[in-house]
Amino acid sequence: MNSLKRLAEDIEESKQYGGHVIRSHRRPPTGNMRKAAAASMLIAALALTLAPVAGTPVLRQAVDASVVDAEPLEVVDPATTTTIEIEHIKEQITRSRRAAVAAPTLAPAVVRVIKPTWVHPLASGKQGNSCYRTSKRPSHGGVDLAQPAGTPIRSVAAGIIYRKAYESDGAGYYVTVRHDGNVFSQYHHLRAHSPLGVGARVSVGQTIGYVGRTGNATGNHLHFEIRTGSVGNRVNPAPFMRARGINIGC
Ligand SMILES: [Zn+2]
Repeated sequence: MNSLKRLAEDIEESKQYGGHVIRSHRRPPTGNMRKAAAASMLIAALALTLAPVAGTPVLRQAVDASVVDAEPLEVVDPATTTTIEIEHIKEQITRSRRAAVAAPTLAPAVVRVIKPTWVHPLASGKQGNSCYRTSKRPSHGGVDLAQPAGTPIRSVAAGIIYRKAYESDGAGYYVTVRHDGNVFSQYHHLRAHSPLGVGARVSVGQTIGYVGRTGNATGNHLHFEIRTGSVGNRVNPAPFMRARGINIGC
């Protein structure tokens, strides 16, 4: 209401200079200024209801305060303002109100990246082509997933590198990762030693080695094992992973 009071003073003062009130206009509206516009339109609407014709300059000031249109100069002559102008001002208020409604303030977007706890050991999601302890291979302690040589192998969960070794007649280059809850995942036939050192922390999905065919392997593939409770206790990795939302086939 201070601005209205100030306008009244301006009008009084303007009478000494032939009744003209000259105001330089404000900058064009920005997104934030539309909020101010909406607030001042309320004042404008109130003024429309209450003001008689003699109050027209007050209405004009209210529109001006809404900072919706950007005119370089605004001249208000209280002596010559007519009801036609009041209609024009009403129109302006309506347009301003529509503009304010059409430009809602958007809440800042909150983007949260949620990492899965468990992932497939291969980005391809390859399904097992030889399963755990089948009748044909009763001593097979893992699931085989054929992949081209050099395919990155991912740690299926966060953990630490528990061991890495080489067995010429069995696993070839292999790496074991220890996870929370005494769970171990083991990856065989790597092309070479895991690039990570024993004790290194790994995040879920982190590359811990590359597919190869070292040791006892007839072709490039990942032999994937899960051990629970202790590192020597193999379990069928297929249902173990399925229970964690990961399908490795078998
Ligand atoms: Zn195997």
